[in-house]
Amino acid sequence: MNKKQLKWRNRIIVALAIFAVVMAVEETGLLESLFGPTGSVYASFVFFLIPYLIAGYKTLLEAVHNIRRGDPFDEAFLMSVASLGAFAMVFFPETDPHMAEGAAVMLFYQVGELFQSYAVGQSRKSISAMMDIAPDYANIEQDGGLAEVDPDDVAVGSVIVVKPGERVPIDGVVLEGSSQLDTAALTGESIPRHVEAGANVISGCINMTGTLRMQTTKPFGESTVARILELVENASEKKAKTENFITRFARWYTPVVTFSALAIAVIPPLAGMGAWSDWILRGLTFLVVSCPCALVISVPLSFFGGIGGASKIGILVKGSNYLEQLAHVDTVVFDKTGTLTSGTFNVVAVHPEAGIDPDYVLSNAAYAEAFSDHPIALSIKKAYAGDIDQRRIKDAREESGHGVSATVDERVVLVGNDKLMAEHGASWHDCKLTGTILHVAVDGAYAGHIVIADVVKADAAETIKDLHDAGVKKCVMLTGDRRDVAEAVANKIGIDEVHAQLLPEDKVNAVERLLADQDPNSKLAFVGDGINDAPVLMRADVGIAMGAMGSDAAIEAADVVLMDDKPSNIARAMRVARKTMRIVWQNIVFALGVKIAILVLAALGIANMWLAVFGDVGVAMIAILNAMRCMRVEKL
Ligand code: ADP
Ligand code: MG
Repeated sequence: MNKKQLKWRNRIIVALAIFAVVMAVEETGLLESLFGPTGSVYASFVFFLIPYLIAGYKTLLEAVHNIRRGDPFDEAFLMSVASLGAFAMVFFPETDPHMAEGAAVMLFYQVGELFQSYAVGQSRKSISAMMDIAPDYANIEQDGGLAEVDPDDVAVGSVIVVKPGERVPIDGVVLEGSSQLDTAALTGESIPRHVEAGANVISGCINMTGTLRMQTTKPFGESTVARILELVENASEKKAKTENFITRFARWYTPVVTFSALAIAVIPPLAGMGAWSDWILRGLTFLVVSCPCALVISVPLSFFGGIGGASKIGILVKGSNYLEQLAHVDTVVFDKTGTLTSGTFNVVAVHPEAGIDPDYVLSNAAYAEAFSDHPIALSIKKAYAGDIDQRRIKDAREESGHGVSATVDERVVLVGNDKLMAEHGASWHDCKLTGTILHVAVDGAYAGHIVIADVVKADAAETIKDLHDAGVKKCVMLTGDRRDVAEAVANKIGIDEVHAQLLPEDKVNAVERLLADQDPNSKLAFVGDGINDAPVLMRADVGIAMGAMGSDAAIEAADVVLMDDKPSNIARAMRVARKTMRIVWQNIVFALGVKIAILVLAALGIANMWLAVFGDVGVAMIAILNAMRCMRVEKL
């Protein structure tokens, strides 16, 4: 608890203690013997007023303030009217006094409020555990020593030093040193990652063993850590439908119950159906139960908890609306390369044309791919062990879904699939090997092709099974790759539907068609790695980017970002979403159910104030405790 909450708690304890003493004294009949039968009523009025004011003066002031502002209908108002009303029953000397109830309403209301504020603080903490990834400083080399500077002040391309135990402040590449990195705070993954010179490192990881000298590749504001923080902070702005519904509901609900309570208190006695005091008391009881705070707090708290819990296991959800939609996903569409497969291709074979050296084919391919970040390009560059002299390359162009073209030493080199060859009028011939075929043409003459193969990720098959088990009806794979490769992967992992040889825009069309066929209450999720599929990520109901550690396009375009590149986290994200929605609905049904029951009993004169206090504070506490379960996602 923070300072304010501690003070608040102490005030409530003092008020509760005084309340208990006054109750006891009243029960023993001591007041009556001291002040006489009428006098004792006024004495206990004064005595109950003491704990009432100690605990509730702020709420009373707030109610007055709201009335002045012209916006009276909130919990503070309901509670103030109900409790003051109970005290005012003293003006009906012929009935039993209700000061104890009046004080109790306010006291327990305060207990509930304090509990609420504590619960909200608690779940905020789980988000701020995430916030802990924010680095305070960066070490830069200066005058032969190290100086600590604000990460915001470090220019791109500067050299920074990260010592063991420190957090990497800015994204960069290792120049010198090797170490183990703890990425748990970002990905939930507990196995450390080994890095050495040349490795890309993202900010937010903890450097565990060795000192690293690294060169920054981004300013702090665009580094992974800053973007994640921004994303998590903004998540609460995108509200789920259920959340908006509750807010709207509370807006008309409170005035409606206030006027109903008034009607209950006034109309029946005017119609001669009984004593004023009896009906007024029923009206007041009605007010106490009707307080909507169980819903108004627990529903957003559940979403908040779900988002916070998900972030602990490396799943970033950009808003409660996406969490809500994720729970209703029944079609999951996957991109192949980098999503279901690892994206690190091995060269299976190099087939040069007659009279051409295989090295010539590979080196031209590597040169043409020099500026591409596509997984294929990275793999080819890795397979070509030699250095690439970038000065020899001009006009490098990437043609999405086709391949690349570049001018290498004044010769135009094309590397890509048959579509690319056809488009540029180069000749090519097919290969009987199963694999992704990269045709290489130099100055329009066919040089040969490289056959590469990707490996299916270890947990891909399990993911598809998990998703089917979770009730996902259809898992679809879209790819720009060849049909035979696509089908081999699909069969291996149990995909229901495959579409191959697609250009990025064809993928959007394929998703549009699937969306059109979709049951209107169900949602479609697209999972990609952000390379060549940002438009599809945006078009799907829920765009999920995988392995986003570093891919800017993906973090931007996606609604849900999986920090790890493990597909099994998709099923996990869905389980988190479903658990959250289950808890949200449990709370809505439970809170409204109990309240409606007590409201009916109150109107009939069966429920008393004590039951009403339970109907309000008790229900709110149970709903909040239930909502806090959303944060626990480790076992999902
Ligand atoms: P996927 O849909 O499997 O993620 P992409 O849409 O990124 O694949 O690419 C589709 C196809 O386009 C690849 O299989 C490859 O034939 C070709 N291609 C794309 N980028 C490149 C590149 N940089 N070099 C060579 N070929 C490429
Ligand atoms: Mg792709």
